[in-house]
Amino acid sequence: MQSLLDDIYREVLPLMGQGKVADYIPALACVPPDQFGIAICDNNGRTCSVGDAATPFSIQSISKVFNLVLAMNHYGEGLWQRVGCEPSGLPFNSLVQLEYENGIPRNPFINAGALAISDMNQSRFASPHLAIRDFIRRVSGNPDISANHEVADSEYEHRARNAASAYLMKAFNNFENEVEDVLYSYFYNCALEMTCVDLAKASNFLANRGYCEFSDERILSSAQTSQVNALLATSGMYNEAGSFAFQVGLPGKSGVGGGIIAVVPGRFSICVFSPALNTMGNSTQGVAALTSLTRRINWSVY
Ligand code: GLN
Repeated sequence: MQSLLDDIYREVLPLMGQGKVADYIPALACVPPDQFGIAICDNNGRTCSVGDAATPFSIQSISKVFNLVLAMNHYGEGLWQRVGCEPSGLPFNSLVQLEYENGIPRNPFINAGALAISDMNQSRFASPHLAIRDFIRRVSGNPDISANHEVADSEYEHRARNAASAYLMKAFNNFENEVEDVLYSYFYNCALEMTCVDLAKASNFLANRGYCEFSDERILSSAQTSQVNALLATSGMYNEAGSFAFQVGLPGKSGVGGGIIAVVPGRFSICVFSPALNTMGNSTQGVAALTSLTRRINWSVY
C-alpha cells in the first residue's frame, strides 16, 4: 500500500495547483493551492498515507455524508419522503430543479438535499451541529476534531443561495425549522476541519458493511451501507458523477475544501486532499489521484 501511494504521489505531483481554490467562501480563498495528501484505511483500521495527509482542511460537503448517516439512523425509510435518490446532473448549489420538483431535492448530497437532511437532524437533536461533530469524532477516533469558526461565519455571511433553497423548501412545506437555525448547523458542519487520515478512518464503516473499527460499533446495517454507497456513486460528485464513475469507478464524495473520500467496498476507504478545484467544484489533483489508484489496483465497483 505504501509504495502504491508513493507512486501515485509522484504521478500527480506535476498537477499541483492546477485549478482554482474555492473563493465564493472568502475564508477559504486564502488556502495555499499547492498541497496534496492521500490516506488509506483498511478494514482492520490500519492506515497509510503520503504528502499532506496530516494537514487539517475544511471538510465542506463531505460533512453531508455524516449528516445523512445520522438522519438515516433515526428516520429510516421515512427519510426518502423528503429527499430523492436520483442524481441531479447540475451544480451542487443549483436552484432550478427544486422549484420544478415541488421543493423535494434530488438527493442528499446537493446543497438543497443536505439542508433538508439538516432540517431533519435539527428536529431531532438539541444541538445538531454538536451531534454531527461528536459523531464524526467517534467514527474517526479523533476527539479533537472541531470547526473553524471563521469559515463558518464567512459561509453564514454569504449564505444567500443556501438560504434561498431552504426558503423555497419551506414554501413547499418541506422544511420544519427556522431556516437561519438550520443554516447555522449546516455551515458549522461544513467548517469542521479534518486531515486525510481522519477522513479515511471516519468513512471506513462504508467500506466495512457499516461497522466502525474505531468506535467498535455498528453505524449502519449492511443494506443501508449499500444504499449510501450507491448514492455516493451516483450523486457524490455532482455534475461530474458520470465521468467519476467512468474513470474512477468508486463511490465518492467531494467538498469545496479540496477533499474527496472514496470507498472500495469490502476493502478500504480513501481520502485525498488538494485544494485547487476543477469547474465542477471537485479537487483536480484528487480526481487524478483516485483515477491513478483504481487503475493501479485494477478495481472498480462496476
Ligand atoms: N458549504 C458549502 C456550500 O454550501 C459546501 C459546498 C461543497 O463543498 N460542494 O456551498
